[in-house]
Amino acid sequence: MKYDYSPTIDFLLDWYEQNARILPWRENPKPYYVWISEIMLQQTRVEAVKAYFERFIKVLPDSKALAEVEEEKLLKLWEGLGYYNRARNLQKAAGILVSDYGGELPGDYGELLKLPGIGSYTAGAIASIAFHIAEPAVDGNVLRVMMRVSGSFDDITEMKVKKQLEEDLRAVLPKDRPGDFNQAVMELGATVCIPVGKPLCEKCPLMHLCQAFKNRTENRIPVKKEKKPRQVQERTILILEMGGRYAICKREKKGLLAGMMEFPGVPGKLTPLMAEEYLQDLGYGAEELIPLGEAKHIFSHVEWHMTGYLVHLREGVAEAAGCYKTGNEENRASLVWALKSEIEERYSLPSAFDFYRKFVI
Ligand code: SF4
Repeated sequence: MKYDYSPTIDFLLDWYEQNARILPWRENPKPYYVWISEIMLQQTRVEAVKAYFERFIKVLPDSKALAEVEEEKLLKLWEGLGYYNRARNLQKAAGILVSDYGGELPGDYGELLKLPGIGSYTAGAIASIAFHIAEPAVDGNVLRVMMRVSGSFDDITEMKVKKQLEEDLRAVLPKDRPGDFNQAVMELGATVCIPVGKPLCEKCPLMHLCQAFKNRTENRIPVKKEKKPRQVQERTILILEMGGRYAICKREKKGLLAGMMEFPGVPGKLTPLMAEEYLQDLGYGAEELIPLGEAKHIFSHVEWHMTGYLVHLREGVAEAAGCYKTGNEENRASLVWALKSEIEERYSLPSAFDFYRKFVI
């Protein structure tokens, strides 16, 4: 639904001046800093991002450093943030910036949109905050706030609803402070017009304009169509130990956690006896197999329900077997036998394995 958001501008800008949180990328909104922080913030809370951001820019202070860093090191810096394709896309985009743009982000919304990992939200955020270009940056926070302000029951999972909001905001964005306006709405959505629980309308600078507040519909807006339930996958995680080293291997290049390191895993839920037989078939002689319990990890579309075992192998056996089969002959993954310190400092293991990595001692 089309809506005129111009009456919100002055109230939002005044509120932002008083309430903007001090954040490292806000103090120095260099395009590179805005870009990195916006990508990190896509699935992670502001408070958690701060430390990651500081560490990242210390090691990789510009696009050139990012383009040239070893993938393993990049993923290690990203460890804990999840959605590792974001880091890979950052590196791909940095390569393009170095080869085509002199190492700098382009100050042009259309050019920004061409870079890997940059969609309309991120392009709008970089353009408006770092280059003062009047482009909207519509994310979930902004959609929620503005749907409530306009009292709209449109389904925010529909692309046309986001496009309409982008169009409406583009028409009214203040030319002198587009970045502040965008950040004000995001900030209001994160701290006042919150997604979970009752919004703090009594603290909101838009209360007198807000249709949802007026009609007491703030808890029914925004409307989101039901998502498909996540697919549940059972998985057995095997922490293989031999002579003080632990086996890890690389996942396939495509699909969930593509190309990430992991503890060897087998589809399905194996009992201790099945796990022992499975390892025996592969030529691994287990001296001891200790059940580690069950754990769950939730991805956006999939849930892993895991069961895990710590397996102490007889020395030499694993080398003889040479490699670990994750299902069939084509799906072979070479094992890396790593010390605990290497797993901590060098390799990046996704948070899906957090429950089991504590058994690496
Ligand atoms: S008045 Fe309440 S519902 Fe409306 S924008 Fe403000 S916090 Fe959100």
